[in-house]
Amino acid sequence: MRANCWMGKTSLEVQNVPDPQILNDRDAIVKITSTAICGSDLHLFDGYIPTMKKGDILGHEFMGEVVEVGRGVGNLKVGDRVIVPFTISCGNCLSCQAGLFSLCENSNPNAGIAEKLMGYSPAALFGYSHMLGGFPGGQAEYARVPFADFGPLKIEDDLPDEQVLFLTDIFPTGFMGAEMCDIQPGDTIAVWGAGPVGQFAMASAFLLGAERVIAIDRFPYRLERARKTGAETLNYEEVSVPEALREMTAGRGPDACIDAVGMEAHHSSTAMHAYDRVKQATKLETERPHALREAIMSCKNGGTISIIGVYGGMMDKFPIGPLMNRSLTVRTGQCHVQRYTRPLLERIRNGEIDPSFVISHTLRLDEAPKGYVTFRDKQDECNKIVLKP
Ligand code: NAD
Ligand code: ZN
Ligand code: ZN
Repeated sequence: MRANCWMGKTSLEVQNVPDPQILNDRDAIVKITSTAICGSDLHLFDGYIPTMKKGDILGHEFMGEVVEVGRGVGNLKVGDRVIVPFTISCGNCLSCQAGLFSLCENSNPNAGIAEKLMGYSPAALFGYSHMLGGFPGGQAEYARVPFADFGPLKIEDDLPDEQVLFLTDIFPTGFMGAEMCDIQPGDTIAVWGAGPVGQFAMASAFLLGAERVIAIDRFPYRLERARKTGAETLNYEEVSVPEALREMTAGRGPDACIDAVGMEAHHSSTAMHAYDRVKQATKLETERPHALREAIMSCKNGGTISIIGVYGGMMDKFPIGPLMNRSLTVRTGQCHVQRYTRPLLERIRNGEIDPSFVISHTLRLDEAPKGYVTFRDKQDECNKIVLKP
């Protein structure tokens, strides 16, 4: 089959690789009909997530048709159409029983590597490094799906791929980002990053009752998309974000702040950004956490910082004093996708949201390497790329 393979930092190749096989009773093989490129893939592409190996198949947002099932998969049959959560979760362990699916205790065969780097291991993820399981991803013609009796959700034929594909990751992620803000009537939520994840966080904040959403980014076309979700916008290249937010919120700050940027935050001018770039380039720090620092400094006293942007390891100059003295709450996580797939599918069916609004480009799988550059460098007003195998 054809698959998009990581060949080294900023190097991808669509190659012929062996077809996946059923290895365990609870596996299924899915023939992929649609897959996408995520902001999280950019951290792999740019070489910031450790334990990638040459030839690894990327991709963790995918859906398709079941073509083979193991003996233990009673709920799916050949021909079923499914979306596949990016988190690989057994459904039985203590974490899964608690709904913390991105912390499944059974899915990561390389938990030892993750423990060395993080203390304890989270769940395995598709196509996301060897410390997170080394599972081949879904930017391919086929994928092996472990625990297929638990994770994938069957979709009826009436909804097109474009409306349901993002149930695998970015819609639940944005929704969880908003949910972690514990939104009360009248609340103002600020969202750093107006990428597709940020856009779903904004739309979800409104669904959950926020009165105002303020989007922060530097790309005018993305801020325009944010305005279409109903948000007010700030271009951080034009204003001081903490000052503007203070002014917009009667001197108090937003009730909650969502970081939908993560470890590769950009900032055009500050000395701190230069500091982070040098430290990250020399591997003395894994993150460039400018947006997170700004979110902490901008949040109202007693407010919540919701971190859905991905971080890989250790950050420098963490504003622990402001966080502690101002009673801020931090909530975060890789999305517990399986918790949200059914309720969010219901919201799509009810017409509350049509997730296809984020798509700007549809490319062939063979065009994936070019697509990564277009998406990373925000060329051609790129917002979200769907790949068709
Ligand atoms: P993206 O690259 O399209 O969007 C990121 C946006 O952040 C860009 O528009 C960029 O201009 C903006 N940005 C950069 N620096 C900024 C700053 N200092 N202030 C404000 N905005 C800034 O990526 P995406 O697909 O939207 O993903 C966003 C983040 O969400 C990534 O870190 C990704 O890894 C993460 N993510 C997390 C989960 C999860 O489960 N927690 C799931 C999916 C994606
Ligand atoms: Zn993702
Ligand atoms: Zn589990």
